[in-house]
Amino acid sequence: MSFIADLHLHSRYAYACSKNMTLANMAEWAKIKGIDLLSSADFTHPAWIAELEENLAPNDDGYFEFGGVKFVLGTEISCVFKQGGRSRRVHLLVFAPSFEVVHGIREMLTSLNSKLNGDGRPTVGASARDLTSRLLDIDEACMVIPAHIWTPSYGMLGSKSGFDALGECFGDMAQHVPAVETGLSSDPEMNWVVPAVVGKTIVSFSDAHSLPNMGRELTIFEGSAGYPGVAAGLKNNKVEKTLEFFPEEGKYHLSGHRKCGVSQTPDQTVRLGNRCPECGRHLTLGVVHRVEELSGAGTLPIEELKRPYSKLVPLVELVAHTMGRGRAAKSVGLAYQRICGELGGEVKVLTQVGYSDLERVGGENLAVAVTKVRNGQVQIVPGFDGQYGVVQPV
Ligand SMILES: [Zn+2]
Ligand SMILES: [Zn+2]
Repeated sequence: MSFIADLHLHSRYAYACSKNMTLANMAEWAKIKGIDLLSSADFTHPAWIAELEENLAPNDDGYFEFGGVKFVLGTEISCVFKQGGRSRRVHLLVFAPSFEVVHGIREMLTSLNSKLNGDGRPTVGASARDLTSRLLDIDEACMVIPAHIWTPSYGMLGSKSGFDALGECFGDMAQHVPAVETGLSSDPEMNWVVPAVVGKTIVSFSDAHSLPNMGRELTIFEGSAGYPGVAAGLKNNKVEKTLEFFPEEGKYHLSGHRKCGVSQTPDQTVRLGNRCPECGRHLTLGVVHRVEELSGAGTLPIEELKRPYSKLVPLVELVAHTMGRGRAAKSVGLAYQRICGELGGEVKVLTQVGYSDLERVGGENLAVAVTKVRNGQVQIVPGFDGQYGVVQPV
């Protein structure tokens, strides 16, 4: 038994998120994508928690149900604090087993002067270590994992405000942190060479701010969908596989300056110094650069911890590519929905559906494109400094 989970999402109450991120729409898109379990997202926000409590029906198996889709209670919290003489900004994913615990978390955050009625992803002036300790005091079934760990500004290992190791960030609480989220710009293989995260389960989720981006990265856990299944999955590495972006498509893969059109590999940055050759200011150091900085010499003893993963290109991009239109075009959206509807959801289309069915429903060009992506026959322009990369079948 296994289940496909997207546990990093946002509601319409988080800043810079689509107003279409409603419970009904999220459940509908989970079906289009073929996702079994979603995070409720943003459970500290007063208006959103009221909607969640009214609509999510609890179940004895440890999940909440709405519109035929399963949910667990999760959110993202932004810790902004000083440690070691530097200011730090670290995003954490937090999961809670019940609404009662969620209310305890809301009270705790309020006591720390965190403002809960603004951003659905609240900011708190506590260290990652202290917040984790307080959450476990509320209920030891709470779970904390650092989000998109390589993102320059808000990742635990990010170049601008992060740390060099999980233990440095969480101190004595590190043992209670079961997993790390790789983020779009890195894949598991890049993390396998980094001692700072060895021993932690590696997971991937979408961090979607809009409906079409749901499920762009996913984790398939062993077990049954629900809080106990997620807990076992994270704590015991019961991951069947992860579904990933090509890391080059992520916004912070290479180093560079978007405004100056400068993009560099770590070699170039080391050779030329960290300054932009156009404007002379510091470059935004990307994920590859940080991974190289933090990677260990030799092979790390983690063979038994490694899990398979697939690198995918979002289906809507492949449909747009084969139709010669932008991904926002109405005709692309209609074709995408029809293909997902007829073939059992996007995840199946990208990973499992055979060539003849792809051809019958999506046409020959789409069948070829999906097959090429599965085989890694792609052309890549890597992302940098907030600009997405481009990955296309060739
Ligand atoms: Zn975040
Ligand atoms: Zn520049």
